[in-house]
Amino acid sequence: MTTTMSCKPKAKEEPAINAANMDTTIKPGDNFYQYANGAWLKSHPIPNDYSRYGAFEVLGEENYKQLQTIMDEASKDKNAEAGTVRQKIRDFYNTGLDTVKIEKDGFNPIKAELAKIDALKTNEDIQKMVTQRHAVGSYPLFYFFGSADEKNSNMVIAQLYQGGLGLPDRDYYLGDDARSKEIRSEYLKHVAKMFELIGEDPTQAGKDATTVMQIETGLAKVSSTRLELRDPISNYNKMNLDAIQKMAPKFDWASYFKGIGLTKTEEINVGQTKFFTGMAELLNTIPAEQWKVYLRWNVVNEAAAYLSSGFEKENFAFFGTVLSGKTAQKPRWKRVLSETSGSLGEAVGQLYVEKYFPPQAKERMISLINNLKAALKERITGLTWMSDVTKKEAIAKLEKINVKVGYPDKWIDYSSMQIGTNSYYENMVNATLFNVKRDMNKIGKPVDRTEWGMTPQTVNAYYNPNMNEIVFPAAILQPPFFFLNADDAVNYGAIGVVIGHEMSHGFDDQGRQYDKEGNLRDWWQAEDATKFQAQTKSLADHYSNYKLLDSLHVDGNLTLGENIADLGGVNIAYTALQKAMEGKDMSEKIDGFTSPQRFFLSYAQVWRNNIRDKELMRRLKEDVHSPGEARVNCIVYNVPAFYQAFSIKPTDKMYRPADQLIKIW
Ligand SMILES: [Zn+2]
Repeated sequence: MTTTMSCKPKAKEEPAINAANMDTTIKPGDNFYQYANGAWLKSHPIPNDYSRYGAFEVLGEENYKQLQTIMDEASKDKNAEAGTVRQKIRDFYNTGLDTVKIEKDGFNPIKAELAKIDALKTNEDIQKMVTQRHAVGSYPLFYFFGSADEKNSNMVIAQLYQGGLGLPDRDYYLGDDARSKEIRSEYLKHVAKMFELIGEDPTQAGKDATTVMQIETGLAKVSSTRLELRDPISNYNKMNLDAIQKMAPKFDWASYFKGIGLTKTEEINVGQTKFFTGMAELLNTIPAEQWKVYLRWNVVNEAAAYLSSGFEKENFAFFGTVLSGKTAQKPRWKRVLSETSGSLGEAVGQLYVEKYFPPQAKERMISLINNLKAALKERITGLTWMSDVTKKEAIAKLEKINVKVGYPDKWIDYSSMQIGTNSYYENMVNATLFNVKRDMNKIGKPVDRTEWGMTPQTVNAYYNPNMNEIVFPAAILQPPFFFLNADDAVNYGAIGVVIGHEMSHGFDDQGRQYDKEGNLRDWWQAEDATKFQAQTKSLADHYSNYKLLDSLHVDGNLTLGENIADLGGVNIAYTALQKAMEGKDMSEKIDGFTSPQRFFLSYAQVWRNNIRDKELMRRLKEDVHSPGEARVNCIVYNVPAFYQAFSIKPTDKMYRPADQLIKIW
């Protein structure tokens, strides 16, 4: 049911499971990912402007076309009334495409900000400047935002969170491995080039780049690792202003909170206390002159994508090419479209669902979700490792999971967002300011349960532990995830697993620490928790042993939550499929495959993708999701139904004896 917006009539619709995409020279028991996807992978090399290309990206391309239609219509609408979302979408998009003006402006849009930084003298001045930047949604040094109190999930409280780094992970600053060293050396060159672009001579630019590296390395040293950030308990440190002042005494917190407009300072969560103590210390020991360099870098780095081509190209050369291996930038219309869709998310989303989201899709989803819930309940009831006491709590949590499909019932009101024809950069700044004010306004108030954390046009889904809810934006309800008219096996293998995956997040190593109300509270019998941990350790080891590119490994601990969700997702969706097909013949073939086979093939094709080596290395370090290949192969060989579906033998390469299969949910 994909809607294509090209003028050509669409070629004959591809069958949901197409044997032409498979590589049947490989045995399903030797490498199921390759068996299911081999021919597709060979015939779909990665386009230059992608670092990874697979099912998500193909659907993403469809999405671009749909959104382009919306943007094009809005951009030509000369009669859009001032202040309407249509006018805002039009002007945001058009200023972004006006490269003549952007080129002419050079870095004029940030000159006033750079001049302010130049005028700073003391470390107190630096703190004031940091405060001013935070007040408008730019975050040197650390992050500030509002979100649910982890132990009182009905209330929004202020949150302080580590940050301040230009590179995407602390380990890149500290790692001794060849890739981290290479990234550091390229980063130094990149920062220097950006300083040259704002008029510094090469010698000074080189020195300044070193200063940025030193400061960021200092921040990296006091930052928590990604693994440490996965522990909700150690990242929950609720305190009041006085306690924060004691924890990080060398920063004037009262002035800071006043400056950003936070009036309620009794309850603030400090995500990483060690970071804030260290950050405040650094702020006092490093001279103001060096901090000015760091602040300048932050302004340029953040603005680069909205400035003239020199900035934009250099920005891409580092973040696109060095880090991810892309050789070409996406066409400008796509980049501007993404920015517009990001800044005016629900305004664009409203037009998107009107045009592209069939109401039947929502009905079908709700019924699928109910079947998945029933299947998980049945599986929890039947677990042999969990006591009845904990089972009762788990089922109560499952039954309370809230479900959102398609789009929000209540849209964000954008009337106070100022978007005009002045400049692309200014529009971006104003959109950010709107979001900051909106966020700030929520602090100290009850959580709005109708809010969405993703826009309808996002190809993704999520579980929110504080709201105990699963959310499926309209854009994911399309092939290869969701087929309005295909057989159950295909849908349960794709969107069914996605639903099961999101539900399982409520019961993964992080999610299980939240109760049915979304509060961080232990509802487990100690013995059950111990058994759960023993099994999740096996799963972590299983992934850590999975090899990619001969010498790389998945980090089984970093990806544990996602892997638990994948394993749960496949098992729950398969149980749900069996229930849905009760009384029907599952061995009957469609396009040459039985229903159980179609289920697993559908699952495998969702995760097919080609990925550049650099992007793979980056993701293995930064991404809590395992690579597509592992998401298929580390899962299916743990699922008994898969062995039956494809008659897997002990002589097959990835065969695992029945008593070694990992089962959690
Ligand atoms: Zn997930």
